[in-house]
Amino acid sequence: PRIAVLGAGAMGSRIGAHLFEAGYAVVLYDSWKDHVAEIQRNGLRIVHEHTAQTLSIMAASRPLPGEVYDYVLLLTKSGQTEEALAGFRDIIGPDTYVVSLQNGIAGIEILPRYIPKERILVGVTTYSSDLLGPGAVQIGGSGITYLSRLSGGSSPAVDALGAIFNAAGFQTVVSEDAMQVIWEKLAFNASINPVTALTRLNAGEAGTHPLGIELMSSIVGEVAAVGHRLGINVRTDEVMSQLRRACEPEACGDHLPSMLQDVLKGRKTEIEALNGAVIRLAGDFGMDLPYSRAVYQMVKMLDEIKGT
Ligand code: NAD
Repeated sequence: PRIAVLGAGAMGSRIGAHLFEAGYAVVLYDSWKDHVAEIQRNGLRIVHEHTAQTLSIMAASRPLPGEVYDYVLLLTKSGQTEEALAGFRDIIGPDTYVVSLQNGIAGIEILPRYIPKERILVGVTTYSSDLLGPGAVQIGGSGITYLSRLSGGSSPAVDALGAIFNAAGFQTVVSEDAMQVIWEKLAFNASINPVTALTRLNAGEAGTHPLGIELMSSIVGEVAAVGHRLGINVRTDEVMSQLRRACEPEACGDHLPSMLQDVLKGRKTEIEALNGAVIRLAGDFGMDLPYSRAVYQMVKMLDEIKGT
């Protein structure tokens, strides 16, 4: 199969590297010219704990002429999705599957405007990574990735991608209905991200303070209520225990959730694909989400005034 990564930053480079090492033909597409030039010149540098290796993986900052892929793994930040699809539309053919492992529900909200639903795959991953600079990525935690067809049901192409990910050591479960997993991750991210980004407290600090837990729990309850209206069983107890585990000071409490990192670095956040998307969906049902709305408004101000 021909596989492209569209948006080869922290996560895209990591997945691309796993696939490349397992022998799959993969091309990294990214509009960031310095990053692409560095990979072309010196290879992609992958740092894992105290070791580093360099992979001669193909990278390009614009579509390679005539190249169309079986799978395009979309890993730009959610807010960059439309621009990436427009800039790289030539790599997506009528038989291409577009796969979003982005946080939030960009895959569900944005992709169907451009790609037929049957060819959209969505998922969530607990794998993580960080960009060190042009051409260099640090591998973070591993775990599990869930993959599902947006239109539901099974398909050989989805099973095949699951098998490819597993063969590449990227532990993946193909599920006919990943909506519960996606929505529970959405509730998790829509609560911990804005609360830490706005308070500038790390996960351990915010998640062990009674007011932090109270606020996160209110947001989780709102996201779950919208999920329930859509027929998705979002388990608030499960999300809250995941949050408590993620915030345990001795485990990973010093972790800076991605939205806090974005705010500290003056970058635009993924608030639109998280709380923004939930608020829009709630509006369709005439529901008001006061906690989500308040954190959305504050993060949106930061995005518009300070984010680039
Ligand atoms: P990132 O910013 O490191 O990577 C995004 C890449 O997309 C960048 O290299 C950027 O240059 C590129 N890009 C931006 N606009 C583009 C365009 N128009 N065309 C082509 N490329 C473009 O972000 P990330 O941390 O890798 O996150 C990507 C997605 O994965 C997000 O939705 C994030 O929430 C999700 N995610 C990340 C992690 C993680 O640990 N990094 C974990 C789970 C999920």
